[in-house]
Amino acid sequence: MPLTVNSDVRELPGVGETRAKALDKLGLRTVGDLLRYLPRGYEDRRPSACIRTAPAQLPVCVRAMVAESPRLSRIRRGLELTRVRAVDQTGAMTITFFNQNYVKNALRAGEEYVFFGRVEGPPGRRQMTNPEFEPAERVRFTGRILPVYPLTKGISNHLLASLTLQCVERCAGQMTETLPPALLAQYGLPPMEESLRSIHFPAAPEDAARARRRFIFEELLQLSCGLALLKGRRDQAAGRIFRRRDPAPFFALLPFPLTGAQRRAMEDMARDMASGRPMNRLVQGDVGSGKTMLAAYGAWLAAQNGCQTALMAPTELLAEQHFRSLAPLLAPAGVRTALLTGAVKGARRRQVCQSLREGEVDLMIGTQALISEGVEYAALGLVITDEQHRFGVDQRSALAAKGAPMGGASAPPHVLVMSATPIPRTLALIIYGDLDVSVLDELPPGRTPVKTYVIGEDKRQRMYGFVRKLVGEGRQVYMVCPSVVTSSESLESAQAQGQVPSAVPPFPAKPASLGFLGASENESDLKAAVAYAKELGEKIFPDLRVGLVHGRMKAGEKDAAMAAFAAGALDILVSTTVIEVGVDVPNAALMVVENAERFGLSQLHQLRGRVGRGRHQSYCVLVSSAAGPDSRERLKVLASTTDGFRISEEDLRLRGPGDFFGQRQHGLPDLRIADLASDMAVLTQAQDAAARLLEEDPRLERPEHRRLLGQVKRMFADRTGSFN
Ligand code: ADP
Ligand code: MG
Repeated sequence: MPLTVNSDVRELPGVGETRAKALDKLGLRTVGDLLRYLPRGYEDRRPSACIRTAPAQLPVCVRAMVAESPRLSRIRRGLELTRVRAVDQTGAMTITFFNQNYVKNALRAGEEYVFFGRVEGPPGRRQMTNPEFEPAERVRFTGRILPVYPLTKGISNHLLASLTLQCVERCAGQMTETLPPALLAQYGLPPMEESLRSIHFPAAPEDAARARRRFIFEELLQLSCGLALLKGRRDQAAGRIFRRRDPAPFFALLPFPLTGAQRRAMEDMARDMASGRPMNRLVQGDVGSGKTMLAAYGAWLAAQNGCQTALMAPTELLAEQHFRSLAPLLAPAGVRTALLTGAVKGARRRQVCQSLREGEVDLMIGTQALISEGVEYAALGLVITDEQHRFGVDQRSALAAKGAPMGGASAPPHVLVMSATPIPRTLALIIYGDLDVSVLDELPPGRTPVKTYVIGEDKRQRMYGFVRKLVGEGRQVYMVCPSVVTSSESLESAQAQGQVPSAVPPFPAKPASLGFLGASENESDLKAAVAYAKELGEKIFPDLRVGLVHGRMKAGEKDAAMAAFAAGALDILVSTTVIEVGVDVPNAALMVVENAERFGLSQLHQLRGRVGRGRHQSYCVLVSSAAGPDSRERLKVLASTTDGFRISEEDLRLRGPGDFFGQRQHGLPDLRIADLASDMAVLTQAQDAAARLLEEDPRLERPEHRRLLGQVKRMFADRTGSFN
């Protein structure tokens, strides 16, 4: 049976059940999968040399004739040597193999082979040790650039390369072209078959780079098309029209004048909500930039237009905080506010739900409870989610789906997403391709910037002393502790995984993840925090009130500890990284972060944002023991600026985009090849291309775009129904 791209891997010679299982772990089930399995680097085996002149530093290919039958000798138990002499026009060398007895029969006197390895020793005593070799007439893995693949147990690179080689030779031509020909021409991209050949077995590094660029472009084109289609679908939907109002009465409610950035964002919102299309806007503002006021404005405007607003916060504590600040603020304008969290139960809950259903509540503040069963709105017109990165895209849409029919015609509510994750502007536009973005790039006046210090283990006692001093002055302190695993360990394992045997890979592989600590914690993190809290509470600060929050606590316990801290009943709050985003404890004036090098800069910036919210001078102390010069340098960025966007740009440069979002929380599909940070230039091209394609063919219905649409649908498969 002829081999096709759909053939099972077991149809390839040398692949039985065991190897098929191992391949399956890499997601490789068919020939097509193998063709699409891209190398992470290359080993350059092109340089060929003569025995006499081969450089000792570099592995090279030497074509030589075996001059005699190999001799096998046993040195001792478990150590056998096979020796053979080989010659070319320039000289002779001795080749030694350790414990490779098969060599004795694999090399024949009088035949020519290509040996790949280092040639060492002075003239007359030239030698190679354990080279790879192939008969000179049938070379496959020598004399060329060889791919290096990500591997799994039971699958060697040699095996994988020999499989992909067969697939490329026999089936590369069968893979259908997925990019429209016009795009290939316009962007100078190689077609599918050529790309597959050169991504696996490039004739030159440039060919591999060109092929890779094609696959990156393709992936980013799919991403851009998908996001544009999502956005387009929304632009076609009808939205409720919120008539504009003179904002003066709203301003009159506020205890302070708004910043310019806040006003601009309000103007964006007002324009969106009057446009007849549903608003879908992201407000990005650093911690403390005053996003809550935008929620207040939205709720006020909605109420003026006879509509309800739902404001969803990720934790009960945050929901309560919003309720406490917004209810009295908006009450004078006649906006009726209610709170619905998991803690609101029984009769009270029924009552809240009923007034909501009957339209007696204008602003409903709560947690995920807002999207639970049985919560119905009379006229939901605006949905606001706070600290958006804590919610999945699904929750956002579940809440939006609660928009009830109004006047018979059903229109989806406006959506406002507020996020404190400072994403570089360039990236935000892409990540949130289906959202419009307003940026709050200005802090309210009168803030004293937090003073930031980076210290090593040697200053630990002084740091404790400082904690004590501030507590003595009546301030409170956060102490965050990520983990017991040292960064050098995780770095080493990342390097081991990413180790490339080649001299210089033509392009760098995607950077290995450095074990980013997001909102999740593992067992050892937990232990560390518990042990740390114990040590602080019992040994170091036995006279102070030390509390603990971590991710394994029940939501109620966590909130209770946070609430105790907020109420001033604790001096020190020890926490893992779950420390609540957005919680406002103005009396907290010191943030200590242990093992600071384990965090992304943006995450540290977020943590730092927990302090500096009150009148007192606040401090952030980053403790970093492992600090090599690099990580110290990295941390110093934080000491030098408080601009979240600058920090995030630096973070993006240093660590790549994954860290901004944790896993999939951004709701973007996974990218296999492209890297949003390093492939920015291609991304821009792909976005242009997508925009033009969709202009000509808004739903990608033409035959030449059908394949692309199929791929886009597959890429966004978890958003079922998105493109109908
Ligand atoms: P975040 O963007 O982190 O959610 P908040 O909305 O919690 O920020 O605002 C942080 C603090 O700044 C709050 O105490 C809020 O009352 C105050 N604030 C907001 N806007 C202004 C302003 N324009 N002038 C002065 N203070 C403001
Ligand atoms: Mg906030």
